[in-house]
Amino acid sequence: MSAHDADVLIVGAGPAGATLSAYLSDLGVSCLSIDKSRFPREKVCGDGLTPRATREIQQLGLAHDSRDGWIRNHGLRLVVGRRSLELPWPELSEYPSYGLVRSRAQFDAALVTHARARGAEIREGVSCVGIVRHPLTGRALGARVRSVDASGRKVGSEETVSARLVIAADGVGSMTAKSFGIHPNPKRPIGVAVRTYFESPRSDDPWLESWLELWDGKPGASQLLPGYGWIFGGGDGTCNVGLGILNSSKQFGSLDYRALLRAWCRAMPAEWQFDEHHQRGKVLGAALPMGFSRKPHYRNSLALLGDAGGLVNPFNGEGIAYAMQSARVAAPIIAEALKAPNVIGLDRAMQAYPQALSQDLGGYYNLGRVFVKLIGNPRVMSLATRAGISVPALMKVIVKLLANLTDSEHGAVEDRVINALSRWTPSA
Ligand SMILES: Cc1cc2nc3c(=O)[nH]c(=O)nc-3n(C[C@H](O)[C@H](O)[C@H](O)COP(=O)(O)OP(=O)(O)OC[C@H]3O[C@@H](n4cnc5c(N)ncnc54)[C@H](O)[C@@H]3O)c2cc1C
Repeated sequence: MSAHDADVLIVGAGPAGATLSAYLSDLGVSCLSIDKSRFPREKVCGDGLTPRATREIQQLGLAHDSRDGWIRNHGLRLVVGRRSLELPWPELSEYPSYGLVRSRAQFDAALVTHARARGAEIREGVSCVGIVRHPLTGRALGARVRSVDASGRKVGSEETVSARLVIAADGVGSMTAKSFGIHPNPKRPIGVAVRTYFESPRSDDPWLESWLELWDGKPGASQLLPGYGWIFGGGDGTCNVGLGILNSSKQFGSLDYRALLRAWCRAMPAEWQFDEHHQRGKVLGAALPMGFSRKPHYRNSLALLGDAGGLVNPFNGEGIAYAMQSARVAAPIIAEALKAPNVIGLDRAMQAYPQALSQDLGGYYNLGRVFVKLIGNPRVMSLATRAGISVPALMKVIVKLLANLTDSEHGAVEDRVINALSRWTPSA
């Protein structure tokens, strides 16, 4: 690719990057997005979208018709031991009452197409290999980029793209943030999740199913793990089946997650077909960076969005809604900041971005950190799941808390309690 100057260089065109490029194009900001992949591309994910993500999709104006392969869900089916409970998504004025499932290959490709239709320039097969920094101030001045072929091999020579602002929207590994010296905080929660697909008669299930009991499988003394397994019907003849575990358990780091998934699937009814004959694709996994695990979200002309900023919800492992939210919040702030005549003004205006994230999510994520610690204790996890499943009214409130689905104004009593708890917990 040829050298290109843009006001904003966005590294990564997943949910965070593609959403930002769409919003910035609407605002008339000159921006260039690059992604090392070519769309559609596989992305390790559960493919589940709660009403929170659906609201972002609606706000962005992305069509999600069932004729185009989107499958709607009514709510969560929670499974604890032999008991199960179906909880419809709450009726709220600020959120739709349905969620969606769409494979990430198709979802991310649709996002990129949508952003382009709004004028965004997105170059595929272009990898960021490092940030260009001012030799004295360390400020981000752009990025060194290189084309990659379909198998990810670097081709051609390295080039430089200069920009006034660089956006790290390159996911959990974020080489952009790393090369800028912003690393994950090891004290923040992190999860590991693995998933695969099976051809299954459960593919059209209109509920997102979560199994709240995952056992480590140690002979004689099996312990409950902090996490859950999921079965999300894709509506295309397949189910996305996976599990995620938090780092607050003793076993974290020493578990064989793939073996755990295989063992869990083996225990399922045979007619669901979660067996190797019906498996479609490999078991793949990745980390879930939670609760603002990478900060600051803005420094010296570099802003962190989505997984690059550790924005996954520690309560439920959801990341797409927050990646899109960070883009929606950042876009007008970026457009305003670019009007500044110098870098001091730019920095001052860009501070509104981390402040907005902290205000919107900081308290809630701090609550999430307490939650992650508590459920790391198998006894607490067992008590919470067993007791909770027996009291549907309580579980309804818990689902609101876990999925961060409350009305901010004129909400039900439980909404006000959850919001107050989030407000009172000091933001990090
Ligand atoms: C197993 C698993 C299951 C999950 N299930 C769910 C779920 O059901 N629902 C949910 O909401 N969340 C889920 N998540 C979390 C969700 O996948 C992420 O939070 C979400 O993808 C974050 O979006 P993002 O745009 O920040 O990053 P990504 O989606 O990771 O996008 C980053 C993009 O940057 C590109 N990129 C990376 N490095 C470079 C580089 N050097 N140069 C150029 N481009 C680069 C990548 O190709 C990619 O396209 C799951 C995660 C895992 C691991």
